[in-house]
Amino acid sequence: MDFSLNDEQRAWQMKARKFADEVLRPASLARDRIADPAKTIDWDIIKQGSKLGFRTAVVPKEYGGHAIDFVTQALVMAELARGDSAMSKAFSQCWKWSHLISMACTQDQKDRFLKPFMADDTFVLGKGITEPSGGSDNRLPPDDPKAGVKLRAVRDGDDWILNGEKTFIANGNVGKLFFLDVRTDPNAPLRNAVTLFLVPKDTPGFRVGKVFNKSGWRFYQNGEMIFENARVPHANVIGEVNGAYAKSTGDASGDLFGDLELAANALGVCDAACEQSINLARTATQGGKLLKEQQVVQLKINRMCALTEALRSFVMRVAYEHDQRAHSANAGLVMNLATDIIQEVAELNADIHDSAGILDENADKLVRDAFIWSHLAGDAVQRMKVSRRVLK
Ligand SMILES: Cc1cc2nc3c(=O)[nH]c(=O)nc-3n(C[C@H](O)[C@H](O)[C@H](O)COP(=O)(O)OP(=O)(O)OC[C@H]3O[C@@H](n4cnc5c(N)ncnc54)[C@H](O)[C@@H]3O)c2cc1C
Repeated sequence: MDFSLNDEQRAWQMKARKFADEVLRPASLARDRIADPAKTIDWDIIKQGSKLGFRTAVVPKEYGGHAIDFVTQALVMAELARGDSAMSKAFSQCWKWSHLISMACTQDQKDRFLKPFMADDTFVLGKGITEPSGGSDNRLPPDDPKAGVKLRAVRDGDDWILNGEKTFIANGNVGKLFFLDVRTDPNAPLRNAVTLFLVPKDTPGFRVGKVFNKSGWRFYQNGEMIFENARVPHANVIGEVNGAYAKSTGDASGDLFGDLELAANALGVCDAACEQSINLARTATQGGKLLKEQQVVQLKINRMCALTEALRSFVMRVAYEHDQRAHSANAGLVMNLATDIIQEVAELNADIHDSAGILDENADKLVRDAFIWSHLAGDAVQRMKVSRRVLK
């Protein structure tokens, strides 16, 4: 297999590395320390990254985007995440949804939503699936019509009236446009009962509730979204009514973008953890010897590097497979494996710092960020979903 990068891929990688070193990493701890979870985002960073193309990276060129391939996406994500994992996620969260607008929306929807997204450096996107009653049933839907999405839409002439809530939604309090899974049939199982709506932030009847005080990924905010007789035009429905779970909309995009992007982000965190441990081992002493001369430290760093390089190989292979349109269960497997690897590597890094692993804010932050993967990519339901694909 040829692992060499072309000039364009190398240029994006270098641009991301420079931005991570010069802008993300220097701001990382300061943003992380902000106590109010609604104030952690730095719009100047989003603007700077947007001007470099990170926000609009996957939008097709015909709409003014950069249409970077999957190998480039993985390279960019890993580099940005090495600087700050949550900041890099703030950019990549726009990838799958801007791609979805360009792939699945009508020309009218593209004119109304993709154009403003392209024109505004602070225009970030979100997707609302999870609700206070739970998130898992929406990802692995049971047949019981009572399970899953409760946010309800009822048709009223040319509009739909929405009532209910979404919760834990990334960018939920800062996004300007949301994709929402909404129940449009109360009696059918979820697979045939949910419609995908485009809902702008300024929709009458929609307001933001609480912003969650997460332990990790603090820059990347999660909020509650509350809908009280919110009026959304039928023209904002994507695809067919009750067709949100069809392959042509959310699922297809999620499979392609969500999994690889998270695995590549984890790779960047592993790179940062290895870097921290290697730097410490080269400079700190215990028992009259540099840490790097202590056998236990050598073995731990060996394990961290081996896991990180194994993850890099798997991430790049899946990116390559995506570019060849050879999609497989590997996309999900790499995301699940990334969860295990990022958590082991971040913990080993904190461990090598010893007590300072708790006190050293850099090592501690990587552990807190890594913990997030259990709730995104490596929980039981995500693993069951991937296993079902393997076993099909
Ligand atoms: C940082 C972050 C960002 C997020 N961003 C978004 C977002 O942008 N949009 C969005 O919609 N949601 C988002 N979420 C929410 C996330 O998708 C949900 O937390 C997740 O789907 C789990 O749902 P839940 O928390 O309601 O847990 P529940 O569904 O209540 O599950 C609780 C526990 O039971 C287990 N479980 C549930 N069902 C089964 C089953 N059938 N078999 C075995 N075990 C099961 C789960 O694995 C979990 O351990 C985000 C969460 C985090 C932490």
